[in-house]
Amino acid sequence: MTEKMLTFVHLEQKYPHKREASERRTDFNEIYAPFDDNSAADQSSRCSQCGVPFCQAHCPLYNNIPDWLRLTTEGRLEEAYAISAATNNMPEVTGRICPQDRLCEGNCVIEQSTHGAVTIGSVEKYITDTAFANGWVKPPKPAKENGMSVGIIGGGPGGMAAAEQLRLKGYEVHIYDRYDRMGGLLVYGIPGFKLEKDVVERRVKLLEEGGVVMHTEFEVGRDATLDDLRKKHDSVLIATGVYKARELKLPGAGLGNVYPALEYLTTSNRHGLGDTVPAYEDGTLNAKDKNVVVIGGGDTAMDCVRTAIRQGAKSVKCLYRRDRANMPGSQREVANAEEEGVEFVWLTNPEAFVGDDKVTGVRAVKMRLGAPDAGGRQSPEIIEGSSYTMDADMVILALGFEPEDLPTLFDAPELGVSRWGTVKIDFRTMMTNLDGVFAAGDIARGASLVVWAIRDGRDAADRIDEYLLARKEAAA
Ligand code: FAD
Repeated sequence: MTEKMLTFVHLEQKYPHKREASERRTDFNEIYAPFDDNSAADQSSRCSQCGVPFCQAHCPLYNNIPDWLRLTTEGRLEEAYAISAATNNMPEVTGRICPQDRLCEGNCVIEQSTHGAVTIGSVEKYITDTAFANGWVKPPKPAKENGMSVGIIGGGPGGMAAAEQLRLKGYEVHIYDRYDRMGGLLVYGIPGFKLEKDVVERRVKLLEEGGVVMHTEFEVGRDATLDDLRKKHDSVLIATGVYKARELKLPGAGLGNVYPALEYLTTSNRHGLGDTVPAYEDGTLNAKDKNVVVIGGGDTAMDCVRTAIRQGAKSVKCLYRRDRANMPGSQREVANAEEEGVEFVWLTNPEAFVGDDKVTGVRAVKMRLGAPDAGGRQSPEIIEGSSYTMDADMVILALGFEPEDLPTLFDAPELGVSRWGTVKIDFRTMMTNLDGVFAAGDIARGASLVVWAIRDGRDAADRIDEYLLARKEAAA
């Protein structure tokens, strides 16, 4: 059927319809409409069916992209979903929020030949949403229970992917999460305009229907120690993510209305989910009518500025010390933010927060890019005498995340961590220095991406299975 493919020579790249910025600014719904059947089939047919598919090679999950694109062109969507789901536990999530421009689409051969990449992420989302609509997505029910149990600490994408894979292998699986909902940053970090919450909820529901036991509002360290869980389960997986906000030690950092990004985003997400959130309702953690300054240039900063716009801020500025070309966040998200009314103040660094009790301004200094550092990246240098102050009623710090001190929190001083605080694992076995205790996702690799958390969760499930089967065999 390849005659249907390779249409990139005459068919242009087309992404699904993006809602107008004026409309987007007023709600937290996703900004892209879904593909219709014909567009999905047409756009998939642009794939050049490479013998060595670079899209697949650059996907952390090694998704079999050319095959599901071909099946989509042929209208064989149930098979397309089966192939997609064989390597990915939540393609509807990665289709929406993976940085495809840096992974599959960025490495697409027809992108390299200037025809514009196949719109892989949008097709992935279309296939999976169609699968859900048609009831093809099933709960993970094992053929046979194997009588062993695994406890997973953390119900983010890493923990959820591991839970599904382990359940399919016949394990009794328990997920413990300190929040009141499963999903981790998919629910409380990432805003609805990138990923609507019911998309995550339906995955959580499927896991529950498959028999995964969910323990919400269960904080390991408070409600149980790591040792308690090791005694209760045959194996334990740590998938707790990284939550300690990096600080900015500047004069005035302790002033009122200076907040860490995740506190701000979690409040907004909770409000969107219908929870009563006093800090939002009394205006404290709400950007309405405020001059907001967000500091940072990554994806978290982009989520903060775009949230502030939707809350009705008077002005929203994003301060970043390098230039646009050198920012870590996705260029696509910067463009979306600009369309929505965010002002980017490139090559600018904060020097101090100004105000008596609450912040009223940010004193900033202009920067230029100097000589490249050891990694080849140009280091920002201060332009002397260029300081100025901008108005700010609310400052949000989005400077990245570090791991919490798990050995202390878990009352497990013997748990090995790296000098960055991530849980140390042997990457071949995914096991920590504690027998039968594994780790996956951000807590093992540092702040990363959803697709890597899923990959880790799947790998950890395989390694846990190998470990427990070997142990059972040795005991027999
Ligand atoms: P998490 O998703 O952080 O889940 C960890 C879970 O562990 C949480 O539910 C937490 O409550 C629970 N937990 C922690 N400690 C305990 C404890 N002691 N006891 C019980 N439970 C505990 N990635 C992308 O690919 N695309 C994006 O667009 C994107 N946007 C992002 C935007 C923001 C604002 C942030 C912060 C991150 C973003 N990321 C994005 C990164 C992505 O969300 C993470 O890489 C991913 O969620 C990591 O998954 P995880 O399962 O390791 O951890």
